[in-house]
Amino acid sequence: MLTRVKSAVANIMGGIMAGGTNGDNLGISDLPLKFPYMRPEFLGLSPDEIECSADHIARPILILKETNRLPWTTGYAEVINAGKSALNEDQACCEVVALKRRPAPSTPSHTPTTHRRSSLPNGEGLGLRESADSEGLVLHYWGLFDGHAGSGAAVVASRLLHHHIQLHLQEVQDILRNPAVLPPTCFGEEPNHHQHLSPGGAQRALTRAASLRGASGAPGSPSTPAPRFFTEKKVQHESLVIGAIENAFKDMDAQIEREKAVYNISGGCTALAVVHLLGKLYVANAGDSRAIIVRNGEIVPMSTEFTPETERQRLQFLGFMQPHLLGNEFTYLEFPRRVQRKEVGKRMLYRDFTMNGWAYKTIEDDDLKFPLIYGEGKKARVLATIGVTRGLGDHDLKVHDSNIYIKPFLSCCPEVKVYPLTQFEHGADDVLVLATDGLWDVLSNEEVAEAVTCFLGNCDPDDQNRYTMAAQDLVMRARGVLRDRGWRIANDRLGSGDDISVYIIPLLHGNKQT
Ligand code: MG
Repeated sequence: MLTRVKSAVANIMGGIMAGGTNGDNLGISDLPLKFPYMRPEFLGLSPDEIECSADHIARPILILKETNRLPWTTGYAEVINAGKSALNEDQACCEVVALKRRPAPSTPSHTPTTHRRSSLPNGEGLGLRESADSEGLVLHYWGLFDGHAGSGAAVVASRLLHHHIQLHLQEVQDILRNPAVLPPTCFGEEPNHHQHLSPGGAQRALTRAASLRGASGAPGSPSTPAPRFFTEKKVQHESLVIGAIENAFKDMDAQIEREKAVYNISGGCTALAVVHLLGKLYVANAGDSRAIIVRNGEIVPMSTEFTPETERQRLQFLGFMQPHLLGNEFTYLEFPRRVQRKEVGKRMLYRDFTMNGWAYKTIEDDDLKFPLIYGEGKKARVLATIGVTRGLGDHDLKVHDSNIYIKPFLSCCPEVKVYPLTQFEHGADDVLVLATDGLWDVLSNEEVAEAVTCFLGNCDPDDQNRYTMAAQDLVMRARGVLRDRGWRIANDRLGSGDDISVYIIPLLHGNKQT
């Protein structure tokens, strides 16, 4: 076992054991690609430009061309890694998506494929371009995906996750359009959850729910059951959006798992997605990318990173409840260091899933197994294999040279945070910053907030490219410049050798949209 772990650790590249010689898994599978490797569609790069962008020595920073526009004049910049993988394993997507009032008859299931998106990346006021049957709500969407052990899962998720979100939101859009009435607890008439609610059906359900909540019938009247049978949670509209996004992530993950049988979809990816709908921003995160709002120079964190350390108790509890997942080779207990055989019978500090603090226990033979979570900070690993604990894909990822699967410990479920955009006044320099860990590994929230505030403060407020230039500035600060001793940033610190992708989304434009 020890040899196996040593071998695994020796092969770790970018937070995970490499699946191939360069982490891209290209050529390993005979199956066709679901989608070809690409850079974000909105960058509008030619094949030659894509090839040039993969220069690990020059590491050119790619930015949005002036002729290309993203919603809200969103800024974007990216740079490839310093050589840890042949391709840039980050992916990005930005869309304006119209929810259709009625699904097309040919829409049989939750399996979005390559059908053309319902919107264009540069389209403000896209609703005007939609067909007559799609005069539904319009949402804005930004996604960042950080791939590992290949770019396949990140590419697929960047092309399809927003379609899954669209499908789930379409199911509840009639309810969402009526904010004066709480969502009904139950729809009895339309058991097929894929079926779209007609306006009339939704209204009947709303009326029924209001009735169930006691809108008619005096308390204590013969037709009114006792109150104790009548308790009903009040679910808010925003919880329906959160639920839709959560289920979209699960569907995306399930689609990757299904389609791995027929396509080469390599590796896995973290996913950070932002949805703007009805005046609120929903920030969904599964992985170690990060979102912060910078408002009046103040920082509002909008995501939490999911790492072996931050998710220790969930992972330990899973190992405790389902010990077979540990393959009799790992222990769910945590010790401050590896336990040695000569320490059996002695007392050592430990903690389990119930504990934040530490206590002593007598060491037994079982405690000699390799810890489920091992290492600190960016070097922390689950099952000696992976450095993130939420994400999409990775269904066939196993502990090196074993039959122990990582997936049950690696969850596809995001955490969704809500920002009530319309409840705040925003200035032109108030922004939502989204970035992969390549940025946050070397710059703190405070450094990013200060850099963005300072940069935007020196820009012409009417310059449409100011947010892209600010994103470029952030990427430059995190990448640094190549010196004799590698990439260096301010104060001669080591720059980020990872792929770096940054969105800067102005919140003022979001206010205008609502
Ligand atoms: Mg990364």
